[in-house]
Amino acid sequence: MRRLAVFLASSDGHDPAYAELAAATGAELAGRGVGLVYGGGRRGLMGVLADSVLRAGGEVVGVMPRGMVEREWAHQGVTELVICDSMHERKAIMAERADAFAALPGGLGTLEEVFEVWSWRQLGFHTKPVGFLDAGGFWAPLLGALRGIADSGLLPAATLDDLAVAPDLPGLLQALEERLRGGSRPAHGKDLV
Ligand code: AMP
Repeated sequence: MRRLAVFLASSDGHDPAYAELAAATGAELAGRGVGLVYGGGRRGLMGVLADSVLRAGGEVVGVMPRGMVEREWAHQGVTELVICDSMHERKAIMAERADAFAALPGGLGTLEEVFEVWSWRQLGFHTKPVGFLDAGGFWAPLLGALRGIADSGLLPAATLDDLAVAPDLPGLLQALEERLRGGSRPAHGKDLV
């Protein structure tokens, strides 16, 4: 894996453990030579993650719509800041530049971004693996809800199994790598790619 796209909060949250996780994730990515693709923000966990990768000598590609850059939300120290016109374009560029996707603790923006790439994988629009870093069980309530939806028959069990979930970054990277190497196909892939 050359680059990992990470979706995570633009705020800090109440628990300092979230920032510690973002910092540890950045150091680990840089140490492994895996570049970071992210939304380009300087605030919250996004900023902590980017700072940590840069401090450890790693590569950071930030992608942000012009309107957000003009509001001074961008991290100005990243390796490459790609300025685009819309949120749709931002997500497309992030998806193109990364080999896999991971969600760290986050809110609505994080959920929207990770669900989009996961549902597009299910549909076969791309074959890049998607995962949740479930440190401290942060995503457990969401994963439980998803299991309930799968039990209803409306979310294919194969789609849920296709999601890489691990409590730490080495475990998550391994699960993503396995799906990359295995050339795993989306559950309902229709060979659209
Ligand atoms: P949230 O989880 O709601 O904090 O949203 C974080 C996600 O949405 C990130 O992955 C970003 O791509 C995007 N985003 C939301 N707010 C901002 C912001 N102030 N600066 C940069 N990106 C943001």
